Amino acid sequence: MSLLSEIIRLVVSMLVAWLITRLPLVVLPRISIRPLELIDHPNDPEINENLILQILRVRRAYWASIPFGLIPLILGILMIIQSPSSVGFGLIIGSSWVILSRLVPFDLDHLSYFPYSMNLVHELNRIRIEKYPCCAIPKQVWSLDAVKCSECGHILLDHARPDLGRKRSDGVLFGALRIMILDGHAFTEPNSDIFSEEE
Ligand SMILES: [Zn+2]
Repeated sequence: MSLLSEIIRLVVSMLVAWLITRLPLVVLPRISIRPLELIDHPNDPEINENLILQILRVRRAYWASIPFGLIPLILGILMIIQSPSSVGFGLIIGSSWVILSRLVPFDLDHLSYFPYSMNLVHELNRIRIEKYPCCAIPKQVWSLDAVKCSECGHILLDHARPDLGRKRSDGVLFGALRIMILDGHAFTEPNSDIFSEEE
C-alpha cells in the first residue's frame, strides 16, 4: 500500500471522528420533542425562562460530545490492537482532539471557561430576576455581542451570544458547518462593533 493512500485514510478517519464528536451540538438541541418558544434565529432572544432552559439543553448537547467521542476512540484503539492501521490511528487522533478541547478550559474568565458554563447560566438568571432599572419597562435581550436592554442599549452583560440551538436562518448545511467549526463559541468578540449575522 502506498504512503499516499495511508495518509488519505488517516486524514479521512480523523475527519470522521471529528464529525461524530461535534455532531451532537448541531443535532441534539434541534430535535427536541417539545421545542421551547424562542424567537427565530437570527433575532435577539429575550432573557426569559425559556432561554435559560434552552441554554441548559444546548449545554447538555455540548457535553454529549465526550460519550459520543468515546465511540471512535474505542474503535480506533481496538483497530490498533489488532494491527497497526492508519484508520485506527486517525480515529484516535480525531476523537481525542475534540474530547481534549472539551476538557481544557477555553478562557480564564469565569463566564467563558466553556461556551455554556453554569456561571453564565446563573448570571443570565440573575439578570432575568433582578431587572436592571435603566428604563421604565426594560427589555433585556441577548444580541450578538452582549446582553443588553433593547430600549436604551444599556449593556447588562458583556458576553457574546453563542449558538442557542435554534433553527438557523443560514440553512441546515451552512448552519451546521458553522456550529461545528466554532464548536458553540460565539462568532463575535464581546461587545465588538463588528456587525455580522452569525451567533
Ligand atoms: Zn433600558
